[in-house]
Amino acid sequence: MLECIVTKFGGSSLANDEQFRKVRSILELEPTRRYLIPSAPGKRYPTDDKVTDLLYSCHALAAAGNTFEDQFVKIRERYLSIAQNLHLKVDIESALDQVHQGIASGNSRDWCASRGEYLCGLLMADYLGWRFVDAADGIVFREDGILDDEETQTRLSALLADGKPSVVPGFYGATKSGEVRTFSRGGSDITGALVSRAVNADVYENWTDVSGFLMADPRIIDGPAEISSITYKELRELSHMGASVLHEDAMFPVHRAGIPTNIRNTNKPYHPGTLISKNAPNEISVPTITGIAGHKGYSVISIEKNMMNSEVGFGRKVLQVLEDAGISFEHMPTGIDSMCVVVASEALAPHREEVLQKLEALVDDSGSVSVNDNMSIIATVGRGMVHNCGTAARLFSAMSRSRINVRMIDQGSSELSIIVGVNDSDFEATIHAIYHEFVG
Ligand code: ASP
Repeated sequence: MLECIVTKFGGSSLANDEQFRKVRSILELEPTRRYLIPSAPGKRYPTDDKVTDLLYSCHALAAAGNTFEDQFVKIRERYLSIAQNLHLKVDIESALDQVHQGIASGNSRDWCASRGEYLCGLLMADYLGWRFVDAADGIVFREDGILDDEETQTRLSALLADGKPSVVPGFYGATKSGEVRTFSRGGSDITGALVSRAVNADVYENWTDVSGFLMADPRIIDGPAEISSITYKELRELSHMGASVLHEDAMFPVHRAGIPTNIRNTNKPYHPGTLISKNAPNEISVPTITGIAGHKGYSVISIEKNMMNSEVGFGRKVLQVLEDAGISFEHMPTGIDSMCVVVASEALAPHREEVLQKLEALVDDSGSVSVNDNMSIIATVGRGMVHNCGTAARLFSAMSRSRINVRMIDQGSSELSIIVGVNDSDFEATIHAIYHEFVG
């Protein structure tokens, strides 16, 4: 039996009083759901504002010496309507006045943005009759803005040690000197993961407005299949290639602590969603592939040089050139006297001339350096690949039937993914070919 579940609700799950009601009934379904991490209220309809965006613009207007009343009225109205419609007792008007005053008196950008979650947490704690725990007391940032992981674990677990049902607002914490700091956008996911680790939760439930991950981008594949179970490693590969539901930094604390994350849909509370775990336990049959994700806009830097293979340290010198320019590389297929380095074109652009000049200086007259742009990278990810023969053969046959030219191949050493490079113009066709081969 599960003893302790941490729940995090995203902005669209808390956009108005109707969503608050859904949240409470989800918590009532399962009494072991004892911790709640709210985001700030998000959009109620497509053209609506997110409270966090409104707070950022209040801060920018105030910092430029302009009035921010028009924006603040919208924020006030959002919280007041939730409080009134749910008949809450908490003095949200005074809390809103304090936020207004803080913005007007020049409080930091992070402080202003963090108030979205703070106010939402006050309302939610009142609505549920739960304790409010200010994240500024439990989530600790270093002065340079990086999370102090150890101190956070110590403080959060002490704060929550009594096991009382608690609301801990997402997205922010504070330095030891008490200055409020936020994570990057979408960072309430990280708060949820840190709270899960601190209370040693059985599951970290991340409630949002989709029923988990899909096997491919629905803008390319019509109605792709849902992923019911995925490992953290697989997810890391897919999210690096663009599949995103969860903040990237939210995976590490729970992954390391062996706590599964369950992505759930607030609007479909009985849908099991996607379960992300360390080993995807108890599987009867593992699908060959778990998902496909990709990106356009890569450049391939090809370097040729006679006897490259026997020149110890040549690879390091090439990578040093990229490191000096602050460019991280994605892949590096090598031949005997040649190597290719794949980088994001966007990252290369500002340093292109300088990088090419330095690389040319590394190869003598017998060598050459060239760049090919407009390449897409597509990762086909699956823990089932290790157990199935012929996966690569099927994948490349499907591509060849669709007359797609493969420009690069890389199979990660983990046998967790097959990565192909194709022309940008073949990007969508490649995803179609692979998806239909393996999923139907
Ligand atoms: N409210 C913040 C944002 O909009 C953090 C979050 O929702 O996770 O990015």
